[in-house]
Amino acid sequence: MIGAGPAGISCACELSTLGYAVDVYEAKERPSGLAVHGTAPYKITNEEVLAEIDYLKNQFGFSIAYNTPIATEQQIRDLEARYDAIFLGVGIGPTASLHLKGEDLDNVIGAVEFVESLRMNKHRHLVPRTVVVLGGGNTAMDAASESARMGAEQVYLAYRRSKEEMGAYPFEYDLAIGAGVKSLFNAAPKEILGTDKATGVRFVKTTLENGKLVEAPGSEFVLECDLVIRATGQAKMASLLQLIEGLALDAFKRIVVNQTTYQTGNPKYFAGGDAVNGGAEVVNGAFEGKQAASGIHQYLTQNSGTP
Ligand SMILES: Cc1cc2nc3c(=O)[nH]c(=O)nc-3n(C[C@H](O)[C@H](O)[C@H](O)COP(=O)(O)OP(=O)(O)OC[C@H]3O[C@@H](n4cnc5c(N)ncnc54)[C@H](O)[C@@H]3O)c2cc1C
Repeated sequence: MIGAGPAGISCACELSTLGYAVDVYEAKERPSGLAVHGTAPYKITNEEVLAEIDYLKNQFGFSIAYNTPIATEQQIRDLEARYDAIFLGVGIGPTASLHLKGEDLDNVIGAVEFVESLRMNKHRHLVPRTVVVLGGGNTAMDAASESARMGAEQVYLAYRRSKEEMGAYPFEYDLAIGAGVKSLFNAAPKEILGTDKATGVRFVKTTLENGKLVEAPGSEFVLECDLVIRATGQAKMASLLQLIEGLALDAFKRIVVNQTTYQTGNPKYFAGGDAVNGGAEVVNGAFEGKQAASGIHQYLTQNSGTP
C-alpha cells in the first residue's frame, strides 16, 4: 500500500484477512491521512483515530513504515520488483494554488494545511481578528467554522459563485453560519493585498450569464483581513503518478480505475479513495480500499494461484 489513509488501511485489513503479507508505506509520521489531519475534532479526535489504527494493526498484522514517502522512480521500480500488487491510496495532496497575486504573502494559508496545523497542535493556535476564507466546499466550511470557534471576531466565507452552486453540504454551511461566519456569494478574488503580510483581498462581483461566470464591470471592492485561508481544492499527486507506466489519469487528474476491481491501466496497480474519486469522505475511501482488495485477490489468484 502506498499511503496509510482510510483507503490504504482498509485495503491492508482486507488483504491481511485473505492471507496476504501487507506492507504500508506512509509519507508522514502517523497513519490515517486526512482522517487525522483533516476531519474536524468535534467529529472525531486524533486519539480515537490513532487508537483504531493500532487496534487494526494488531488485529490484522500488517506493517506500516512511517516517514517513507514514495517519490522517486527508483523507489517505484523497487516496489514493483518486490511486491505482487501495489495499491495507491495517496489522496489528493496539499491545497492547490489559485495563481493569484499576493498568494505567497505571510498570513495566506491553504485550508488543508490550516486544519492540519490545528489538529496537530490541539487547537493551541492563534487566530487573528479578521479571517477571509476563499472557497465553497466542505473544507472551506471547516476552516471557517474552526476560525470562528477559535475566537476570530469576523470570519467571511467568500465564494465566487452563488450559494446554490456551492459544493459544500448544506449542514456544513449551516454549522459555519451557526458559529458566526458571514457569507459573501458571487465574489471572485482578484488579488491578495499587502507587502509582507496579507492585509486584504480585492474581489470583483460575478454574475452567471448563459451558464458562464462573468465579472461585473466596476464592481471591485476590498475586504480587509489579517488572515486569508485558501480552500480552493487540493492539488493532485501528478508528480508521483507520472512515474508509473500505463497509469491513466482523467481530465481532473484522478486515477482511472475499473469501477468493480479498482485496477488501474497498469495491471499491477490498484487505487482507491480521494486519488480516484477526486475527494469524497472517509467512508468512500474505506469502501474503495475494500473493493480494490477484492480486485487484487482476483488478479493474484488468476495469475499465480491462491495465496
Ligand atoms: C479539511 C477536511 C475535512 C474533512 N472532513 C471530513 C469529514 O468530516 N468526514 C469525512 O468522512 N471526510 C472528511 N474529509 C475527507 C476525508 O478525510 C478523505 O476523503 C479521506 O481521508 C480520503 O482517504 P484516502 O485514504 O483516499 O486519502 P488520505 O486521507 O489523504 O490519505 C492519503 C495518505 O497517503 C499518504 N501519502 C501521500 N502520498 C504519499 C507518497 N508518495 N508516499 C507515501 N505516502 C503518501 C498521505 O500522507 C496520507 O496519509 C475531510 C477532508 C478535509 C481536507
